[in-house]
Amino acid sequence: MTEQPFVEVYCKDACPYCEWATDLLDSKGVEYELYNVSGDPELFEEMVERANGRETAPEVFIDDELIGGWDETHALDEAGELDHKLGLAVADGGDEAVEHRKLLIAGTGIAGLTAAIYAARSNNEPLVLEGGEPGGQLTLTTEVDNYPGFPQGISGPDLVNNMKEQASRFGATVKNGVVESVDDTTRPFRVELTNGDVYTADAVVAASGASARTLGIPGEDELMGYGVSTCATCDGAFFRDEEMLVVGGGDAAMEEASFLTKFASTVYIVHRREEFRAEDYWIDRVQEKVDDGEIEILRNTEVTEIVGSPEEGVETVSLVRNPEGHPTERLEDSETETFEMDVGAVFLAIGHTPNTDYLADTGVELDDEGYIVTKGGKGAGQTATDVPGVFGAGDVVDFHYQQAVTAAGMGCKAAIDADDYLEGGGVAERATGEAAAAESDD
Ligand code: NDP
Repeated sequence: MTEQPFVEVYCKDACPYCEWATDLLDSKGVEYELYNVSGDPELFEEMVERANGRETAPEVFIDDELIGGWDETHALDEAGELDHKLGLAVADGGDEAVEHRKLLIAGTGIAGLTAAIYAARSNNEPLVLEGGEPGGQLTLTTEVDNYPGFPQGISGPDLVNNMKEQASRFGATVKNGVVESVDDTTRPFRVELTNGDVYTADAVVAASGASARTLGIPGEDELMGYGVSTCATCDGAFFRDEEMLVVGGGDAAMEEASFLTKFASTVYIVHRREEFRAEDYWIDRVQEKVDDGEIEILRNTEVTEIVGSPEEGVETVSLVRNPEGHPTERLEDSETETFEMDVGAVFLAIGHTPNTDYLADTGVELDDEGYIVTKGGKGAGQTATDVPGVFGAGDVVDFHYQQAVTAAGMGCKAAIDADDYLEGGGVAERATGEAAAAESDD
């Protein structure tokens, strides 16, 4: 083994991405220096300077080389290059090692971890793959006040970590990895990860959740991490005393806007129509802050461009407004006005897209937006998909409720359905069914 390089990680308080990065290094047994920039302006300045102006944590360095934040570190790991940089022994790429598991669960959000708890207790020895956003959406929220059993609320990351611990206690294995593809023409299923690892599994629970949506406007990609963010809890504190803009009209936008008032001089909520989608609880909380002058709401308004640079961050945003709503669809309308605002940061809270690319070539039915279509209805097998042995749970199925508690409920159902399937000799049954037919065609 080569000598380990000097690894440094800048992090901040309440930062899930920082935890993901340090968890990844921990899982590799790598030692690193951890610098917490929260409440330390000098250290924060040092991080920003070393990270070429990026005002977001974590920032990972290996032997003084900037690796970047979680996305870049994770991508490097997926490409198999992180181990090289860390001086770890790298597999020689010889014979493909294939490990067999009874049950593979894709995703460690609330659905995946609940499925893991139930599956482990049923002796199905689940392998749970963390995916690109370990812990799922809840790790990006602050307090979870509506999960039953926590009268004083619980932080999203704490809830996830508790569940992970609980699943591990019953024998679930949690591993870093992103599923690239599932081959459903063979039994057991062949599951390939983006890092090249391959597993076979008798049953699969897809609980891979959904990822933050972006607007697709000029400046957005270029400034992501430099003042544009999809996570207020992660990045809000970096823009203290600046004006901040939150895009969206759902619960997430309301929650993020409320949270950001801790740091911002003013928070603007930009929503594309008149009515909010958010529940009354959040609308009332936001209204209180509007009354206090901490939040301003811009209805029937959309952002069309974010202007700035990685060096200077976000400088201005261009917006359009029309009293009828959806102004970008009415650009030619004489009532549509165009204006600009000087803000220091833009937070996107416009919903999520399901992570189901790895199922695209399978027989699992996906709807137009990519959500998994499960059997639903009453009685057993509600989480079953069109492919026997593949089950769906959580935000990857549910575009409507999308609550932690509903995800937990579906995770539980998926584990029970998978257990019924495995106990019912599903593997043997199908060997005489379609899969076997497909094999004999070859
Ligand atoms: P939602 O889908 O509920 O809301 C997304 C918002 O973004 C909508 O107001 C939508 O506008 C707007 N939007 C979507 N695309 C665009 C676009 N291209 N340009 C401008 N605006 C756009 O997503 P959330 O993430 O807010 O919530 C998802 C789920 O998570 C919900 O079920 C919610 O209840 C839950 N949640 C619960 C929380 C809680 O504390 N209980 C906190 C956060 C989320 P329009 O309304 O016009 O479609």
